[in-house]
Amino acid sequence: MKLAMVGTGYVGLVAGVCFAEMGNDVVCVDIDHAKVERLKQGRMPIYEPALDHYFQRNLTEGRLTFTTDLAAAVRPSAFIFLALPTPPDEDGSADLSHILRVADQLGPLCTSYKVVVTKSTVPVGTADLVRDALEQAGRQAGVDFDVVSNPEFLREGAAVVDFMTPERVVVGTSSPRAADLMKRLYAPFVRQGNPILVMDERSAEMTKYAANAFLATKISFINEIANLCARAGANVDCVRRGIGADSRIGNKFLYPGLGFGGSCFPKDVRALHKTAEQYAYDFQLLNAVLEVNARQHLYLTNRIQERFGGLVHGKRIAVWGLAFKAHTDDVRESPAHRVIEELLARGAHIVAFDPEAMDTTRAVFGNAITYAGNLYEALHEADALVICTEWPSFRRPDWNRMRRLLNQPLIFDGRNLYEPACMTDKGFEYHSVGRPSALPTRADSSHAPRRTPLDVAA
Ligand code: NAD
Repeated sequence: MKLAMVGTGYVGLVAGVCFAEMGNDVVCVDIDHAKVERLKQGRMPIYEPALDHYFQRNLTEGRLTFTTDLAAAVRPSAFIFLALPTPPDEDGSADLSHILRVADQLGPLCTSYKVVVTKSTVPVGTADLVRDALEQAGRQAGVDFDVVSNPEFLREGAAVVDFMTPERVVVGTSSPRAADLMKRLYAPFVRQGNPILVMDERSAEMTKYAANAFLATKISFINEIANLCARAGANVDCVRRGIGADSRIGNKFLYPGLGFGGSCFPKDVRALHKTAEQYAYDFQLLNAVLEVNARQHLYLTNRIQERFGGLVHGKRIAVWGLAFKAHTDDVRESPAHRVIEELLARGAHIVAFDPEAMDTTRAVFGNAITYAGNLYEALHEADALVICTEWPSFRRPDWNRMRRLLNQPLIFDGRNLYEPACMTDKGFEYHSVGRPSALPTRADSSHAPRRTPLDVAA
């Protein structure tokens, strides 16, 4: 099948590469000339596990091409996917200008039958707007098309696996012809029997927002429980396991931390709240979800400040983890960045390290913070370590080396990576989220800081 992917960002690139991997001819279109040139030369603009492997193969075998020419991409294609940005407007609603501008351009190009598929996350009613725009713009040309809402549920960091083996595919369309074509396109991805759920456009659009809002609610809920556990002397790890074993609740998305971030959850929860407002509905729960999230990072920064006797000014703080979650270099609305902003505002000096998100962080903070070449370099003469992202490489570090490098063996863990009891044995003072703090045993804490150049090197 021939398809055009309009917008070659996170979603468009992953979807384009995966459709090509299944044997389709995919042409990816973007207005960013530099990005298209880089892609044509085989250079991947984002870090996403396994993506580069499939990208190189399909580029070499000619099933995947890139262009800035929308008309040339659309004319031979049966499916036109819109994977365009829907950033928040000033009032929090989704900005549809990218989608509607492209729909205007597509109108005159749909002279043979096309399925126009919205992959972007868009509010209820967008399919109608896209249909209107196509009809208006293509009035003279005698257009032939159907509109489909096909929201994307991939997770950054696991995007290829999610796209290749989706738990479900949602197809929103009132056209049986388009539904049939979409089922044929997705059939190779659901061979294990996962469902293709065909529904009306509005329900499909709402499904995506409802899914993200529900997941965000779970995160804010467990963060509230964690904060209360800390006050009440309970351990959120025990509580999490205790409730997660109940199949009505489930054990996923119940990890307390620094709050949700990334390019989707915050903007989608705000946009759903705005949609509710537009329909004169007071969606109170979403307000609470957002408020809890906006203050969750303060749980850690306030703890740090208290530990330093109310003053972090002049303290050298090592930060491990800058991406909004592991396995990505994406720092959009990253809780790690919120922690850094807060500590900088209180006068701390930050030395940061992340396995993938150094460049994306440098683009945000510039010279305001120091960038370390590896985990251990960040710790050199730091007064404390703060962990903000759950990268696997942070899970089993060299504890002896850490103790030698840090000015004092003090860790604030915003991701609950370690067992508090083990940290006591390892000689660290350890504070995490919603669990009792650990103090080092006297023998372990009496280490003498004997640093060698080898401690800092990679
Ligand atoms: P992105 O910002 O990474 O990429 C968007 C791309 O569209 C950019 O390359 C941009 O240059 C291009 N573009 C803008 N206007 C264009 C035009 N007129 N013609 C051609 N290209 C144009 O965005 P993204 O993260 O891929 O998100 C796209 C949509 O998918 C959003 O609605 C988002 O909410 C949704 N979504 C994102 C994720 C995710 O994890 N990133 C997951 C599910 C859904």
